[in-house]
Amino acid sequence: MHKDASLMLLDWYDDFKRDLPWRRTRDPYHIWLSEIMLQQTRVETVRGYYARFLELFPTVQALAHAPQEQVLKAWEGLGYYSRARNLQKAAQVITNEYGGVFPKKYDAILALPGIGPYTAGAIGSIAFGLCEPAVDGNVYRVASRFWGIREDVGIPAVQKQIRQLVKESIPPDRPGDYNQALMELGATHCCPGTPRCDLCPWNEICDACQEGDAEVLPVHEKKRPPKQIDMAVCLLTMGDKIAVVQRSERMLNGLYVYCLIEEENEPNAVLQLMKEQGIDCRFVKELGEAKHVFTHRVWNMKLLHYELQSPPEGMQMVTREEMARLPFPSAMNAAVKAANQLLELK
Ligand code: SF4
Repeated sequence: MHKDASLMLLDWYDDFKRDLPWRRTRDPYHIWLSEIMLQQTRVETVRGYYARFLELFPTVQALAHAPQEQVLKAWEGLGYYSRARNLQKAAQVITNEYGGVFPKKYDAILALPGIGPYTAGAIGSIAFGLCEPAVDGNVYRVASRFWGIREDVGIPAVQKQIRQLVKESIPPDRPGDYNQALMELGATHCCPGTPRCDLCPWNEICDACQEGDAEVLPVHEKKRPPKQIDMAVCLLTMGDKIAVVQRSERMLNGLYVYCLIEEENEPNAVLQLMKEQGIDCRFVKELGEAKHVFTHRVWNMKLLHYELQSPPEGMQMVTREEMARLPFPSAMNAAVKAANQLLELK
């Protein structure tokens, strides 16, 4: 690596970094929260959630002791709810095992629930000045271009090589700023597709820029397309109430949904399937369609309204006001809207 490359990047970062709320603090709780929220979510969206979350749960202890439903409600709309559940689990570990003080050693940070090498590196370097790399998708892209790594970045050995190169390039006096500078470069100039090499502090020493193949880096092997799943979202009403179910499987754990019937969305076939499950109802009408794309699957949903003859077992009957207090995954956004309209008419 060019001997001044790290310093060139830091100079650029000092001059051009965006002013973000979590960059004004070295509080590990705040940095951790921002890093978790920023995974899969845009900076502009995170700003509001970050401020509200810290108002609701100002300390690690407050988060540890809050009811899970309140935490999930505060996360509503951000998606990937396992992040919120793990955040709270880790807050409980910090409270119970570390007396509420965030651990300062890299291995101890890495051992907390929901914290992988990237987040541990980010917290360790920014809050505690540890010389650990924080390599996320953005940084893999920047690094593979800068060092000219032209192998598939999905391969663990290639990822290890990149993490090592980044680690060796960290200036010992400013590891947190350097990691953030790499992320900033990936977010602003060294973006997917065509990078803005003309604005980049590294353009004269970057391998891909010099070779002219930055646009095709990093190399990714082809991903399998997500699985398409037909899904009936059954809005089962009775008077001014609607049936909801709290899910417990990994992806939706703790969140509420309506009665979901997978792999079928023709109203009468769905009615038959519900009857087999002991749900006694009659079809009223179709309320529209919705689609939600998860990482590995797509739900093609049909929203169907049925009137219940009796409350179904294993579900809760809630009013519109009660429903408003429950956390729903964003996959249910269209259904929640339709359910509100149905209950409003009652
Ligand atoms: S010169 Fe271009 S490809 Fe290289 S790091 Fe900068 S923006 Fe990325």
